[in-house]
Formats: sequence, C-alpha cells, structure tokens
Amino acid sequence: MKELLKEGERILLFVIDGVGGLPKNGKTELEAANTPNLDKLAEKSVLGFLEPLPPGITPGSGPAHLSIFGYDPLKYNIGRGILEALGIGVKIEKNDLAIRGNFCQIDKNDIIIDRRAGRIETDECKRLVKKISDKIKEIEGVKISFYPGKEHRFVIVLSGENVSDKIKETDPQKEGLKPYEPEPLSKEAEFTSRVLNKMLNEIKNILKDEKANFILMRGYSKPPEMESFYEKFGLRALGIAYYPMYKGLAKLVGMDVIENVKSFEEGIQILKDKHKDYDFVYLHFKETDKAGEDGDFEKKVKEIERVDKYIPEILKCDFKVIAITGDHSTPWKLKSHSWHPVPLLLYSEYAGIDETKRFTEKEAIKGYLGKIKGHELIWILLANAKRLLKYGA
Ligand code: ZN
Repeated sequence: MKELLKEGERILLFVIDGVGGLPKNGKTELEAANTPNLDKLAEKSVLGFLEPLPPGITPGSGPAHLSIFGYDPLKYNIGRGILEALGIGVKIEKNDLAIRGNFCQIDKNDIIIDRRAGRIETDECKRLVKKISDKIKEIEGVKISFYPGKEHRFVIVLSGENVSDKIKETDPQKEGLKPYEPEPLSKEAEFTSRVLNKMLNEIKNILKDEKANFILMRGYSKPPEMESFYEKFGLRALGIAYYPMYKGLAKLVGMDVIENVKSFEEGIQILKDKHKDYDFVYLHFKETDKAGEDGDFEKKVKEIERVDKYIPEILKCDFKVIAITGDHSTPWKLKSHSWHPVPLLLYSEYAGIDETKRFTEKEAIKGYLGKIKGHELIWILLANAKRLLKYGA
C-alpha cells in the first residue's frame, strides 16, 4: 500500500494506557468519570472499538503498541530481553542482543541455592552491576554493557556484528540444579556462546566473595527487523511519553523522542512546542493503566478526569485528525491487562457520522467505526488526513 502514500494533514494519536474497563455498580471507569471535554469531542467525532490483538488475546504493552503503530503484532515479535531493556531506558541499536539477567546464589559445587539471591535490594543490584561493569567492557571484539533493574534483575547488552539470539537460557527455573551452559542452538550462535561463556567465567570470579555470587540469563532477543514508521507510512513522527518503556517503543519504530520528559504535564508542553514540526505525534498517558492494575476503580476514574482537563489544550494544537484510544484495556476488576477491545474515538472532518455522545464502551458499541484491528487504525488515520491515493483506476 506504500505506493498510495502522499503528503497531507497532521495526525495525533493519543494513547490513554489501559483505558478500557468493566463496570462497578453498573458503570465502567469511563462512564463514572466526569469528562465534559471528552464528551464534547465525542459528539463531534465517531467512535468504535480497537482490537490490538486477535479476539480473546490479552496483549502486553509492547505488542499492543506495535499494533497501534501499524505493525502486525503477530508478524513482528519483540523479545523479553528487548522489552526489559526498553523498560529501564536502555538504548538498543540494530545489531544488539539484549538479555535478561538476574543475580543468584550458588554453592561451592555450582548448585543454585537461591535463584534470586534472596531478592537483593535495588541498591545492592546497582552496586553489583557496577562492580561487573568496571571489569568487563569487551570480549573478543563484542562490546558488553550491564544495566541494573529492580531488585535482583538487570539487563546485559551485547553489541557486535555477529551476535546471535540462538542461545540456550541458563536459568533452569528451579533451585538444586546447576545453571545451564549458554549453549549455541545453531551454528551461527557458536561465537556468541563462546563470548557468553567467557563472560560468565569472569563474572563468577568478580562475584566470588558476594552473597549474590553468580547470574542467570534468559530472554535473549534482538530488535525485530522492520521498516521504520517513516519508511512504512511516510510520516515524520514524534513520540511523547514519560515512561521509559513507551519512549523505547516509539524509538524502536524510529520516531523522534524527547528524552527528559518526566510527566504527562511536561509532555503536553512538548506537544505545544513541537507539534508543528511533525506529521504525526504519538502522545502517551500512563496512570490509567497503573490504577487498573491496582484494582483501584476510583483512582482510574480520577486519572481519566485528569486527562479530560488537557483536552482543550490538545485541541488548540489544531490537528486535523485525532485518534484517542488505549493500547489495551486494564479493567479494575481484573487488576491486569485484558482482552477486551478498547474504545476508539476518531475526530476528523471526514470521519463519518454517528450519535455517540461520550467516550465510553457503551457508546463505542453504537459507533460508526465498528471494531477494527489495532494495526489497521493507521490506514484510517492516513485516509482522514488525505494522505492516501486511490487504489486502482
Ligand atoms: Zn499498556
């Protein structure tokens, strides 16, 4: 469909993370919230549902975001190591291999006594990661970097031409066994396996006097090979997010990202300052998802109301096409992401017509857009921005 792309209007995609919900005393989080600005916008817009993954499948934020960025989430897979790295703000380059590491405790016969080394504190993790980083920088021409995460977790990134992810995980998933060797699972991975074995030997030596005296590795992954957002859709895009994971996901598809945004309020300021320089802006709001995961109905309602207050400022940026949706639902009742389709609002002069009056699940059922796949949304946005030529004569 790339041959159909042309210049056109500017587009805003506003993702309210986990916004879809389930009722409490007959009203969902969106229904219970007092949202005069969203209501007004819904009246001028059309609604529908977005399904980030096939029916019944609960998405993680990684695949859900790839989907709403227009990439088929079943075709492009983001591995656990990459997600973990993005989550703590590590920059991932094209040929990098990211690995999830955790500190563990082994006895003198190398048997694992505790897979999490007693869930060491995050500060202790930082100290140990620094101790390793000071000694290990490079092995056989492969640059190796270590980044502390929460508690016993950290991330290892190997940067080099020939690194492979076809390596056996070393975590046997239970105590009383020796860690597995990072064996190559294919011929191309023999070099990486050798590098990792050398690395493990050095780490064992560095940590020999510590309680957390060894590490386990899993989730080897490289960034998925895919076209950038610009190559795929011809849109110069800006990502505005204040959590590392979402900055990372925007960067992964090649969007420009402003690094030091720390809150949604700062994000709105960036939006006002920068929107004119871009064809497409992705704006992310996180707290609705957090409240949903905490099972806190009232908090989620409050966060939706907080979003509502910024709608007039967002509208002042004069995007001709605006989509508001979630990357998935996070109903308070399930305290987790869920498979429920997410309400979608589309504002545009050419959007269509329906009688929806509020941005809620119940209104979305009546909406003009019906139910669409997450990765197909971008084409509807492009069309409304007059960025698509006719297909065929
Ligand atoms: Zn999410």
